[in-house]
Amino acid sequence: MRLSEVTWTDVRDAEVDVAFLPVGSTEQHGPHAPLGTDALNAVAVAEAAADAYEESSGGPGAGRGEVAVAPPVPVGVAEEHRAFDGTMWVSPETFRAYVREAAESLVSHGVDRVVFVNGHGGNVEALAEVARRFSRDDAHAGYGVAFTWFEAVGDHASDMGHAGPLETALLRATNPDLVREERVEAASAGAADRWGEWVSGVNLAHDSDEFTDNGVVGDPRAGDAERGTELLDRASAALAELSAAVVDRDAA
Ligand SMILES: [Zn+2]
Repeated sequence: MRLSEVTWTDVRDAEVDVAFLPVGSTEQHGPHAPLGTDALNAVAVAEAAADAYEESSGGPGAGRGEVAVAPPVPVGVAEEHRAFDGTMWVSPETFRAYVREAAESLVSHGVDRVVFVNGHGGNVEALAEVARRFSRDDAHAGYGVAFTWFEAVGDHASDMGHAGPLETALLRATNPDLVREERVEAASAGAADRWGEWVSGVNLAHDSDEFTDNGVVGDPRAGDAERGTELLDRASAALAELSAAVVDRDAA
């Protein structure tokens, strides 16, 4: 169920096993992909995984219960893209507090298992801390973990980049109208080959405009809709499997 579309009585009467809290960002994704890419992709994976979880158990009422998919958190830790117009961000401190408190509100209704479904690399570190604090807080007695979709796509993961093949592919499969196809050639021509400037394993660049002029890392031409469908299948299967383990885990 999508929390923003059902009623409170629907939630009361449902047997909810786990909540997914999609977490995105509003930040530059090159000249061809929308600022909301990370939330759009996180929601697409969360919804597909919720279906997979419920289907694998024979549907609501048969064995396992339902997944409550929360509305996405639209602004994250993205100051690294501050040079590009339209990018928004909050501090890691604000982000951690907001996301943790949002998850805790679900626990007050008995939904004590939460998976944070992330679509943005800059959120990874802060979300891991959110999951730990959420799980260790005895007052709320919840248990949660953080999942980042592009880390759960097997061999594809090494192609991640930014607004590159993977993110563009997933958009083409799930929100094709939002990809400016006529700008993909230019996006590709101006793209950097890799994220950051590395010396001795350390990235010297704190901001993305230090190594990419148009915001793109990797070749978006290498991500067609077919690849996007495969990414969606892989990430949602991984998330459904993870969710079953989260639900079954004795976290007392
Ligand atoms: Zn992104």
